[in-house]
Amino acid sequence: MNTNHSKKLNMQLVELREYLDLHSDDDIKNAIAKDDFAGLLHLPASAREALADSPDLCTDIWWYTEIRSERDLDDFPCVHIAYAMSPKLNRVIKSSNGVFAIQYDDARTEGIVIACCPWCAKPLNTGALLD
Ligand SMILES: [Zn+2]
Repeated sequence: MNTNHSKKLNMQLVELREYLDLHSDDDIKNAIAKDDFAGLLHLPASAREALADSPDLCTDIWWYTEIRSERDLDDFPCVHIAYAMSPKLNRVIKSSNGVFAIQYDDARTEGIVIACCPWCAKPLNTGALLD
């Protein structure tokens, strides 16, 4: 595997944020709908190749666009957890003492602790962080 290929495969939303944050939510969603990341968002070739190889990255970008005005992605393990904890996904995941859980009861008092992100499999802390 050559270096360029590794770099392309490893491109993630975190690396695209600097380009995305130059554009409005509508511009980004329009680019996704029209599949035009070169003309509308001026993404570099490496980012466009990553998008072509990994369609899930479009979902990540869409979710990021949905929450970026109200959430700081750096406060969450990944964009999926940030989105799932937002009103956009009815706060289906909650966090308590650094442990993430899927809420399943109407009262929102019960949850199933998750050890990794259901969308990208990023490992999550499962032991309470008490400080
Ligand atoms: Zn994730």
